[in-house]
Amino acid sequence: MATATETVIKPDYATRRRHFIFTDEHEDLRESMKAWVLKEVTPHRNEWEETGWPDEIMRRAGELGYLGLCFPEEYGGQGGDYYFSLVRADCMSYTGNGGLNMGFAVQTDMVLPPIHLLGTEDLKRRYLAPGIKGEKIGCLGITEPGAGSDVAGIRTTARRDGEEYVINGAKTFITNGVRADFIVLVTKTDPDAGHDGITLFVVDLEDEDGNPTPGFSVSRKLEKMGMHSSDTGELAFEEVRVPAENVLGEIGKGFYHISWELQGERLVAAAGASSSAERMFEKTLRYAKEREAFGRPIGRFQAIRHKFAEMATKIEAAKQFTYATAWRFANGEYPVREITEAKLFTSRVASEVADECVQIHGGYGYMKEYEIERAYRDVRLNRIGAGTDEIMLEVIGRSYGL
Ligand SMILES: Cc1cc2nc3c(=O)[nH]c(=O)nc-3n(C[C@H](O)[C@H](O)[C@H](O)COP(=O)(O)OP(=O)(O)OC[C@H]3O[C@@H](n4cnc5c(N)ncnc54)[C@H](O)[C@@H]3O)c2cc1C
Repeated sequence: MATATETVIKPDYATRRRHFIFTDEHEDLRESMKAWVLKEVTPHRNEWEETGWPDEIMRRAGELGYLGLCFPEEYGGQGGDYYFSLVRADCMSYTGNGGLNMGFAVQTDMVLPPIHLLGTEDLKRRYLAPGIKGEKIGCLGITEPGAGSDVAGIRTTARRDGEEYVINGAKTFITNGVRADFIVLVTKTDPDAGHDGITLFVVDLEDEDGNPTPGFSVSRKLEKMGMHSSDTGELAFEEVRVPAENVLGEIGKGFYHISWELQGERLVAAAGASSSAERMFEKTLRYAKEREAFGRPIGRFQAIRHKFAEMATKIEAAKQFTYATAWRFANGEYPVREITEAKLFTSRVASEVADECVQIHGGYGYMKEYEIERAYRDVRLNRIGAGTDEIMLEVIGRSYGL
């Protein structure tokens, strides 16, 4: 018979929190990839913020199998399920370098998935396989100087000429755009057909010797508020010739293809935002336990303790919402409303947490050496990239027939 004391069940704050979507296999990956990040990547976080992250680190990740976690083995991938992408995003949050995480996410979760889903066997051999190895780096070209949120308003054209297409136009804010070997490019093949006149292409940006494709140029490398280790390019296409076999998916269906791509991009952005918020929280918690004022650690002031309580609650909600939505996505549903809500919610949580963490650090939070100021600048992008907060609200509101 149980004694009185055995029936007193105490709260277990130290339990390893694991969401039901993750198995031992996912946790094994989390352990090994996190160990690699902390050993080979994190120590360079400050240097790469100045120099930009080197291409070799992408190749190294490819060598270790981290770029192809969810792609089939026949292309060099690991054949894992979608949840491995979320584990990867979590592990990358330990780099302490948002720009690197963004460059990697473009490769693994924005450029390669549409090639895998829509590409011909030939495109998969030429771009997916070397992309998984980290031998070729890709970028995604949707945004233009005159059209960001309004994807159907793009002006880059692709005109058929025999067995080739000829591309003219400009793209801007393109992550990896300065260093990339190829681009998944959104163009108009029929400018009068609205949403049904858009087509995707995979376009080589340089040849095997590294010479730029004739007609293509990086017109500007853009300076940014944060994400300094990431290169962001403005790209120009003047009579760039692309073989017709480089069409990705169906001609005229590019709007729908890219709308699908955006769902994966937003879900992984939600996972990344939740994990960055968690890393900022942990860093700041350590600080609040060490830093003293008025004779006690600042974390012991109720005002500060409550900030942690608020942040912890929001972060947990952000993670659980993202994982529950990912479960639906991985099980064949297409929950666009919830993906959009998760992207909106987690981006806001990350921004709010960053702001509170700077506040808790006091003056040190404003100093570069404490690195929380970098996180604050880096996460601000979450509310703009992959669709702004306002666009997320539009998608959610319209989904109710309003
Ligand atoms: C660092 C960085 C990296 C990026 N990387 C890439 C990349 O790799 N590839 C790529 O293609 N793009 C990339 N982008 C572009 C990004 O996706 C766009 O900046 C974003 O979608 C917004 O487009 P915009 O900047 O043209 O803003 P706009 O569309 O001009 O919007 C300006 C403002 O108006 C609001 N607005 C617009 N339409 C509406 C509406 N219907 N209702 C209410 N409000 C509205 C917006 O929310 C925003 O507040 C990147 C951007 C940045 C800053």
